[in-house]
Amino acid sequence: MKKVSLVLMLLFLGGFSAMAQWSEQNHAERFEQLGPMLRSPNVYRTASGAPGHMYWQQKADHEIEVELNDDNQSIKGWQKVTYFNNSPDDLKYLWIQLDQNERAKDSNTPKIAESSINPRMSMRQLENILWHDLDLGYKILSVKDMGGNDIPVTIVQTMMRVDLPQPLKAGEKTEFTMDWTFNIHDRMSFIGGRPGYEFFEKDGNYLYTMAEWFPRMAVYSDFEGWQHKQFVGRGEFALTFGDYKVKITVPADHMVGSTGVLQNPEQVLSSIELDRWNSSKKTFDNPVIIRTQAEVERLEKQKAKDKKTWEFHAENVRDFAWTSSRKLIWDAMAVKQGGNEVMAMSYYAKEANPLWGQYSTRVVAHTLKSYSARTFDYPYPVAISVEASNGMEYPMICFNYGRPDADGTYSEAIKNGMIGVIIHEVGHNYFPMIVNSDERQWSWMDEGLNTFMQYLAEQEWDRNFPSRRGAAHKIVPYMKSEKHLLEPIMTNSENIIQFGPNAYAKPATGLNIMRETIMGRELFDYAYKEYAQRWMFKHPTPDDFFRTMEDASGIDLDWFWRGWFYGTDPVDISLEGVNWYKLDNRTPAEKKADEKKAFDIEETYVSKTYNLKDTPVTVVEADPATRDFYYTYNPFAVTPDDDKAYKDFMARLSPKEKELINSGLNFYEMKFRNIGGLVMPLIIQFNYTDGTSEVERIPAEIWRLNEWEVSKVFAKQKEVKSIVLDPFRETADIDETNNYWPRQYEPSRFEMFKGAGGARGVSIGDNPMKKARRK
Ligand SMILES: [Zn+2]
Repeated sequence: MKKVSLVLMLLFLGGFSAMAQWSEQNHAERFEQLGPMLRSPNVYRTASGAPGHMYWQQKADHEIEVELNDDNQSIKGWQKVTYFNNSPDDLKYLWIQLDQNERAKDSNTPKIAESSINPRMSMRQLENILWHDLDLGYKILSVKDMGGNDIPVTIVQTMMRVDLPQPLKAGEKTEFTMDWTFNIHDRMSFIGGRPGYEFFEKDGNYLYTMAEWFPRMAVYSDFEGWQHKQFVGRGEFALTFGDYKVKITVPADHMVGSTGVLQNPEQVLSSIELDRWNSSKKTFDNPVIIRTQAEVERLEKQKAKDKKTWEFHAENVRDFAWTSSRKLIWDAMAVKQGGNEVMAMSYYAKEANPLWGQYSTRVVAHTLKSYSARTFDYPYPVAISVEASNGMEYPMICFNYGRPDADGTYSEAIKNGMIGVIIHEVGHNYFPMIVNSDERQWSWMDEGLNTFMQYLAEQEWDRNFPSRRGAAHKIVPYMKSEKHLLEPIMTNSENIIQFGPNAYAKPATGLNIMRETIMGRELFDYAYKEYAQRWMFKHPTPDDFFRTMEDASGIDLDWFWRGWFYGTDPVDISLEGVNWYKLDNRTPAEKKADEKKAFDIEETYVSKTYNLKDTPVTVVEADPATRDFYYTYNPFAVTPDDDKAYKDFMARLSPKEKELINSGLNFYEMKFRNIGGLVMPLIIQFNYTDGTSEVERIPAEIWRLNEWEVSKVFAKQKEVKSIVLDPFRETADIDETNNYWPRQYEPSRFEMFKGAGGARGVSIGDNPMKKARRK
């Protein structure tokens, strides 16, 4: 092969190059494998991210009998726990979660909340400082073995250590009972929280949403031992799977909705309700109303004094929650899920109508279809949405927001907010109720994954649904935050400053970027489903998720986990410059003509211009001996040597090389600078002079040898008029003004005002960032 220096014969046709010399060291760390940042794989969890061949998890079965006192809003319960030690370790004691103690008088929750006095304080802000004098928190009445002997316990705030009479050997089970009671709190008050009651002044009735209501087993695992980090209100739960048999005694006119399947409908429903319930099981198109608003309105006035006991059974659940009130309307419809038929149901007070009767159960059914398609068939027999003016999730049942105004009217924002919350909370059945991550440690593992799924389900509900989170550009305001207001996604729940953006929006956005930009939908969806199926009814860790997504897709994502999950840098990639070249195929005559043109331009400068115009010229007679040569030499004339060299060169070219040199290709040498720090693929849109355009996608690995600036050449037959970086806004680039060549400028607006007084508008003193820092 002849060596023809084609590359040396490129014509520079224009452009600019404004590369700043980047002084930061290039560590190449952004593309190193996570390595020691992940746990060592072992027999319980493999390096591929799957459960290992000796994977184990504990199990806790429960029998519970509980009675609700509607006169003084308290609850009293008895429970028998059968705890299976499937671990290879002998356990001297067990840990149990006492979440109600978070609201006790001596709780640490108010103590560790920062507070300050502002010139204007709301009642709620003051209440948060003063806390309360209410009798809240558990009263543990007894913990006994099956022989009726007391078992010694130690209560540590929201955790209780049960000191077993003998160590519980590996592979064995133990049984014990507990009696307890507590006063239910008003969740609409400043104490807030997920469960509690709401009092409806107009009709004098209570609506109870009962969660975190019984002492629950803490998780003992291969990766953390006992998870007994205190519950202080935000970091949610780590819970053990088990089977439940629960008897709930409530006023006879109450409606009860619960985790599990109702065992005794004949005893607790009226005959007409029973008929409607049975017909709802065969109705797949529309919800059947089982207890109507008119019936509820009658019950609200009567207030029964006798009681009824509802019995529910649930298998393989990590928790158990229920709702009870005489205010509850109930509707239900059947949904096909693989071979199963699932009852999608809603419970709501008349105050939630007409919105809830119209949408809730339909949204539940839609959520099951959307989520199951991306994970696994919904394995439980029921999926319930309860209106409780908040949003919180439990297995098979969740409490949601979205109530119209008193006159029954509602805004689009309320309606869409309600639909979004129902999708989200029902969606939590998948993450973390079934794919059971440790919420106390990692909020993002359920909130982030679920918010991502919520976004997809919302867009499937309505292609124009105003989703708040998911699309890349929506995370930009958060990513633009000052560094001291940011922490990595891989941060414990309690230590996060901007909780919603960090634990919900950023991981959800990251997954969306992986799906749309880095992996593509097919590979992403396959790997995501693999993760869900591998860890269904098990306890995954972040490592298991990171590893599975790579293992199943064949895509190395370590750089993305590092940047998006372990880092706080934003994306800001700048298209710094474009140089335009063409291959030199000119004849010697064309070349000399161009050189002459260039020389003339070069020789046009200020003094010459003045000389020609008005400066008198002194003519110096030159030496006749040299003059002739001086005036006859033409450096722009083609010499016989030039001609010969050109012909020889052309003769040496192969047909393919000749074709290339005459192709007329345009070469665009582009420089990119990484200003934000987070590397990303380059998505480049070329807009051509003929009005067409084309998009090129360059993987993020282009940054692996130089994380701060890269250069890339594109050969195009067409001539480029303009170039846009990230034209579909898919990388969360926080500064899009440097994504254009040539640069595009939009004027910023400032207001003119007329009249007395100072200027209106935002002054430096109103900078919200400064306020946040002062707090
Ligand atoms: Zn959530």
